[in-house]
Amino acid sequence: MNAITNHLPTAELQALDAAHHMHPFTANAELADKGARVITRASGITLTDSEGNEILDAMAGLWCVNIGYGRDELADVAARQMRELPYYNTFFMTTHAPVIALAAKIAELAPGDLNHVFFAGSGSEANDTNIRMVRHYWAEKGKPTKSVIISRNNAYHGSSVGSGSLGGMSGMHAQGGLPIPDIHHIEQPHWWAEGGDMDPEEFGLLRAQELEKAILELGEERVAAFIAEPVQGAGGVIVPPASYWPEIQRICDKYEILLIADEVICGFGRTGNWFGCQTMGIRPDIMTIAKGLSSGYAPIGGSVVSDDVAAVIGAGEFNHGYTYSGHPVAAAVALENLRILEEEGIVDHVRDVAAPYLKEKWEALTDHPLVGEAKIVGMMGSIALVPNKDSRAPFAEAGTAGFICRERCFANNLVMRHVGDRMIISPPLVITPAEIDMLISRARKALDECYAELQ
Ligand code: PLP
Repeated sequence: MNAITNHLPTAELQALDAAHHMHPFTANAELADKGARVITRASGITLTDSEGNEILDAMAGLWCVNIGYGRDELADVAARQMRELPYYNTFFMTTHAPVIALAAKIAELAPGDLNHVFFAGSGSEANDTNIRMVRHYWAEKGKPTKSVIISRNNAYHGSSVGSGSLGGMSGMHAQGGLPIPDIHHIEQPHWWAEGGDMDPEEFGLLRAQELEKAILELGEERVAAFIAEPVQGAGGVIVPPASYWPEIQRICDKYEILLIADEVICGFGRTGNWFGCQTMGIRPDIMTIAKGLSSGYAPIGGSVVSDDVAAVIGAGEFNHGYTYSGHPVAAAVALENLRILEEEGIVDHVRDVAAPYLKEKWEALTDHPLVGEAKIVGMMGSIALVPNKDSRAPFAEAGTAGFICRERCFANNLVMRHVGDRMIISPPLVITPAEIDMLISRARKALDECYAELQ
């Protein structure tokens, strides 16, 4: 089999897939019975499957297709770059025009003095870079004991050994010997699930102060950095109370802890600004980027670092790098994606048009008997499914309602993901108000069907 096989019947594709392809985050044995849905093409916000169904992708793939599917400009740039220089590395004092232009563009877009980019092939790789970089930074500054990185439970920072350790996903830590040493997790600012009787702002403050407690317990001289997503994505689109981030920033400043904002989801317009740290009003020393950097058209990620971090790391050789760090084709595609985001005013479209419209429609879902709360920042939103709207108590069997709802979404040609009993969305940023209406009406139908099934 050496040709792309879209022409084969769906059942044949599914059988080959089940026989040979191991899927991420999937019980692969189930594929033999159920068969994976085969996606054949996509345009705008719409996927087409091998049966001809047209599906509204309210997840932008995996939170990444910010400019929408089917932009020929990116395909053209990739083909041109492949012909001109398909590959060269940036090790050992070499470089090339696409990576130079991309690094300069990212430096221009990034806030503050985040002027330097270390490229990787993915968000996971970039966070692995961050682990090595912050520890090396402190060692170079004569403080080698500062090696602990503090993160949060239910954070997601990737799937490699390092980034999976940074993440706080218990299911991931249960497999493969994670976490690595010197990663410490504190609680998340998830008021809905964990706030009890507290006022959300009081709770946000308390959860931020867990960082200070952890620093004091571990010893200030041992803590290198704190990493967090401005808005937790894979954990269930958990929007922190407004009190949370200012307090985190205060603590990082007070104890000279490097702040790493994992912008893999929040970056490149998703929250209504170029970066989530701008929306949350924080000043990171390092930002992790991937996904929206190329709108998923090519695998590329990176660590964007401050002048200070770059000067310290760059003073000697940093013994770190990936074959595909700054891959010319991925860099050219990312650059074209940033041109489109900028020239078409897509971040402005999010802030001024799409996000306010989506917020109004999304929050109105709380009138549904299954929906306890609706949260949204820019173009990332979540709803909590609950058995009883008068309380925040969860379903007895966590995840069942969410799973049913996700299946009902699929049946109604809508991709929404579930995290336990939270339904989440992260649509392409180019979505129009008319398409948002379609998203909401399909979501309502799925919620109605899920509600009926649960009775
Ligand atoms: N960081 C965050 C916040 C993410 O959401 C993800 C992926 O979903 C990653 C890192 C890992 O990125 P990748 O899957 O490109 O390795």
